[in-house]
Amino acid sequence: MRIVLVGAGLAAQRCAEALRASGHDGPITMIGAEPHAPYDRPPLSKALLQGERPDLSLRPTTWHSEQGVALRTGVTAVALDDTLHLDDGEKLAYDRLLIATGARPVELPGLPGALTLRTLDDAIRLDAALVHAERIAIVGAGLIGQEVASSAAARGIHATLIDAAPAPFDALMGPGGGHHLQALHERAGVDLKLGRRLVTVHESAGRVTALQLDDGSQIEPDLVLVAVGVRPATAWTPWPAGIPVDPAGRAPAPNVYAAGDAAAPYDPIAGRHLPSAHWEAAVRQGQNVARAMLGLPERDDVAPFVWSDQHGVRIQRIGDPRGADPIGDLTYARDGRVAAVVLMNQPGALKAARRRIDTLIKEAA
Ligand code: FAD
Repeated sequence: MRIVLVGAGLAAQRCAEALRASGHDGPITMIGAEPHAPYDRPPLSKALLQGERPDLSLRPTTWHSEQGVALRTGVTAVALDDTLHLDDGEKLAYDRLLIATGARPVELPGLPGALTLRTLDDAIRLDAALVHAERIAIVGAGLIGQEVASSAAARGIHATLIDAAPAPFDALMGPGGGHHLQALHERAGVDLKLGRRLVTVHESAGRVTALQLDDGSQIEPDLVLVAVGVRPATAWTPWPAGIPVDPAGRAPAPNVYAAGDAAAPYDPIAGRHLPSAHWEAAVRQGQNVARAMLGLPERDDVAPFVWSDQHGVRIQRIGDPRGADPIGDLTYARDGRVAAVVLMNQPGALKAARRRIDTLIKEAA
């Protein structure tokens, strides 16, 4: 059975590992658009922006050749029918195909010279720009914007975090819980412009010189980062908004699967297929697809998990607080059952919180 994995990131790598660990000894080809072997992204907005040079590789450099996985970097998939079309003109035949091409940052037009952060090369560019920066404006206070603000503050750079939503930190911390994170940013000197929109952009010599907000305030950054979210990198497939998948990762086409930020499993809270776009989901989905490709049974569902490091605090969220009600500090319930718990610098409490929520998910299934 010829297996092709498109995207050489986290989900594809974990899928390849699970295929070999489960006994698949046939050919595996991994196609990646970037020039790098699979690497880990979370440190890009954390350690890498704070002067560290962490080893980002998901496996030692010899892993792919030792495991007989043909890793082809710098090659982009451009179309899909019953074969996979690559940008070098090659057409690859497959018996099973995984699409794990991740996501791309949403860009905002009209902000010349603004950076985004998704890849290692983006992070190197941002890190180099921060060397000379005294003031960074970050448009979008999602997880990436928050972490870059935190890393900039740790470097002594004045960061302004702008978001149109009045309480953007609730998305990570749960309804009403965002004030904990807001306080961390404020204590670290991050200037928060929440519930504010950009109205005018002043530019000179191909870069932004000033941003005017709808409250009349003006920011004069020497660097702008746009962090207003991501879109699945699936424009080249029949499913440009993300690949709808079933719980095993099967796409609506024969022998095609998807995992990670490119995949859109059914989201019962939103009532539609939506990408989950978090690290642990990409790992689990990549492993699940390997099982499905080999005809092995699905694993039990577990609670979603996301973490973030900001201003020296590790935030860990187990479960999904969307649409849930707070029943205690950073604890949320839906339909009378605990739905999510957020921990701040309490790694010791993680195991018990996970067990509690996983049990409830199994009971509800
Ligand atoms: P990716 O890791 O993005 O891999 C996809 C790969 O496919 C990329 O290398 C891409 O270049 C390649 N590709 C794209 N299109 C094509 C094509 N057409 N042909 C071939 N290759 C293609 N999550 C957390 O839970 N906690 C965190 O603290 C956290 N921090 C993060 C910090 C940063 C800066 C970023 C960017 C993400 C962070 N995440 C975090 C999210 C997490 O890293 C992602 O959810 C995860 O990487 C998704 O894995 P993936 O395999 O789906 O996609």
